[in-house]
Amino acid sequence: MNIRALFSFSIASLLALAAASTSTSTPAYSQGKIRVVVSVDWEGDDLIESNLVSIRDFRQDYPTIPMQHFLNAAYFTKAGANPSQTSALMHSVLLPIDEEGLHIHAWRSLVQASGVTFRTGPSFVAEAVDLRNCLADCGNDVMLTAYSESELRKIIKFSLDTLEKQGFDRARSFRAGGWIANRKVLRALAAEGITLDSSATYSEYLKEQWGNYNLYPIVGRLWPSIQPTSQPFVVALTSDTSILELPNNGNLADYMTGDQMFKAFLKNVELLKVNSGRDVYLSIGFHQETAATYLPHLRSGIDQIRAYAEQNLIPIEFVVAPL
Ligand SMILES: [Zn+2]
Repeated sequence: MNIRALFSFSIASLLALAAASTSTSTPAYSQGKIRVVVSVDWEGDDLIESNLVSIRDFRQDYPTIPMQHFLNAAYFTKAGANPSQTSALMHSVLLPIDEEGLHIHAWRSLVQASGVTFRTGPSFVAEAVDLRNCLADCGNDVMLTAYSESELRKIIKFSLDTLEKQGFDRARSFRAGGWIANRKVLRALAAEGITLDSSATYSEYLKEQWGNYNLYPIVGRLWPSIQPTSQPFVVALTSDTSILELPNNGNLADYMTGDQMFKAFLKNVELLKVNSGRDVYLSIGFHQETAATYLPHLRSGIDQIRAYAEQNLIPIEFVVAPL
């Protein structure tokens, strides 16, 4: 085949390819899809009706979207807590399609109930906890990394046991308070049966509201390589232990407008196009304690994602974990 023949052959091939690709509306990346995980961080602070109502309303309006709950056992360790009432309130916003994972903030009541001596710092907000101001409870801003691995295992085990006793699944997934999980925390989690962590996040999403606090630089140092398109990866912990990391790459609604969540989605659409047909994960979400204020952000983000996906034939699926 001479050069001219080769050239015309190539043109013909390209035309045939073009015809094939326009004869069907299936995009080139149709073998993979965007899997959107909606996570909920339960802070262990309070269960106020207005927040629970807004979650129930969301569930009615988006009945097919499962939630990845990171539940906190500290609701049950507060002074005067009513376990059956607390459990009923929490269950009132859960659906069978949901995943029941674990969230831990180092509340004093939780730490002490776990048989561990409470530590007042370091804090991811500012100064260490001043015990003179610790009335009902405190310590939710103390970094989990303040505790030793054996202390963490006690707090994790107590949390898992408590939630299971109150009728929840024994959690297999986890997110750290303030996204602050280092290898020590991950080792303690794996030792207590946790197989998936979702504490990694893109620290720049936190800059606007946390830029003047410890949280922003600490998250940046803990997760320096995480971007809005970071995908699940395995963290090897010991010679025979590992944990799957699902980056919370779209962060949470308190720090993300609906437009920002949609932009994070679009970045992952670009990844899907070059990702050889593999699924791409986007992890977004909100906090139970601020649901009434910030769930509208999530609604807006999801509505934009769904509309764009439909118009542009982007396959999407709402899921709870990359299993
Ligand atoms: Zn939290």
